[in-house]
Formats: sequence, C-alpha cells, structure tokens
Amino acid sequence: MATFTPCFQEYLHKITVDNREKFDCFSALLVEFNRKYNLTSITEAREIVYKHFLDSVIGEKLLTEGARVLEVGSGAGFPSIPLMIVREDLRFTLVESTGKKCDFLRIALQKLGLKAEVVNGRAEELARQDFRERFDVSLARAVAQLNTLAEYCLPFVKVGGYMLAYKGEGAEELQQAKRALSLLGGGKAEHFSYELPEGFGARSLIRIEKVSPTPARYPRGQGRERRDPL
Ligand code: SAM
Repeated sequence: MATFTPCFQEYLHKITVDNREKFDCFSALLVEFNRKYNLTSITEAREIVYKHFLDSVIGEKLLTEGARVLEVGSGAGFPSIPLMIVREDLRFTLVESTGKKCDFLRIALQKLGLKAEVVNGRAEELARQDFRERFDVSLARAVAQLNTLAEYCLPFVKVGGYMLAYKGEGAEELQQAKRALSLLGGGKAEHFSYELPEGFGARSLIRIEKVSPTPARYPRGQGRERRDPL
C-alpha cells in the first residue's frame, strides 16, 4: 500500500475560500433537490463539506493535466463535480443510469457554470459502443465492488490510461479483483490509503493502469458484472 498524505488544509481552503461561491451553491442545490431526486443521505452542511466535497477533491493530484475523464455512476455528481470546480483543465463525461439523477446533474452543471457531457445510460452498454477505449481516466465512487467496477470502468480507458476507484478501506476488494484486472487489460494497481480529518473515516483510492486492450467479450452485460464478478 502506498503512503498518501493529502494536504487536507489546502483542499479545505479550495472548497471554503477559493471556490466558496460554487461549493456553497452546489451544497444548496443538493439540499433543495434532494427530496425530488433522491440524491444523498448526507444533508448536514459540515458533512457535505467533508464526506462529499473533500472526499471528492482528494483524487485531484492523481489526474493528469488535461485528461479526458469518464465517471461511472455519477449520482449527484461525486466525485466529478467537485473535481471540475478545482480542475478546469479536465474534460468530463458523466454516465448515470437513472434519468432523474441526470436531470439533476444537468441543472447543477448549468447553475455552476460548468461544462460536461451527461449520458443517461448503463456503463456496460456504453462501453460496448462509441465510448470504448476513448478516455484517459475512468473513475467511480460507491458504485460497485472493485471486481465488478473494473468490468464497468476499464473498457472505457485507452491503453496507457488508468481507472481510479474511490473506496473505503479497499484492501480486501483489491485482493479479490486481481483476476478481473488481468482479464480486463489492467496492470499495476496502486492503493493509496488515508483518514479523512475530524473522524470522518478511512478512505482509499485505487489506481489501476490499463496495459492492454480489453477483450471484446467484456463487459459481458445483462447484469453479469454484478451477479457473477470475474
Ligand atoms: N458516485 C456517487 C456518489 O459517490 O455519491 C453516486 C453513488 S450511488 C450509490 C451509485 C450510482 O451509480 C447510482 O446513481 C446508480 O444509478 C449508478 N449506477 C449503478 N450502476 C450503474 C451502471 N452500471 N451504469 C451507470 N450508472 C450506474
């Protein structure tokens, strides 16, 4: 496991000072639209800052300059929208299977003055079509176990790019996903572990290099990624 010491003070400054207007606006939108769109169980202001905003921007240093990024299962926009706010150089495509959440994502992007493509669809279907191996990075938070997630994410990534999974502890999942990673064209996996400040819990980021094309039979589709993980 690699040591990772995110500079929490720097990130909190970016959230609560440098980009305060945007993050406050996003926080207000989450609360305003939560009932209608069923977005998040986290609605208390301080928890939103730590568990959603800070947790999201921590991956920022692992994203290369100007990267084309695809997020699987954006939900209310985590981690992508906070990343967009602090990194204007990145280009995002947000994939979300629930239509209502896509409606919220479009409203939030428009109100925040951010540009990103929002695609209402399932990752396992889109990865078999135009989006296959087109992205530098594919990332996700709280969507599936790593073995399932790798089958959703790695097909989108170009050889030479990587997938980035936002996880809790993550070590056991990584162990269980080794076979899936090698079948899907994944290579070296790095596990960066850290504790959110103020007791908000253990988290980790898992970065997996893409070293060879994903064989055409993956993702398998029809729910097999979850039902019968590789
Ligand atoms: N990433 C957000 C976060 O961390 O707050 C949302 C997490 S939520 C638990 C999982 C989201 O992934 C849901 O909005 C769900 O609709 C979406 N999702 C699950 N499987 C998906 C798939 N195969 N393709 C696209 N979206 C998916």
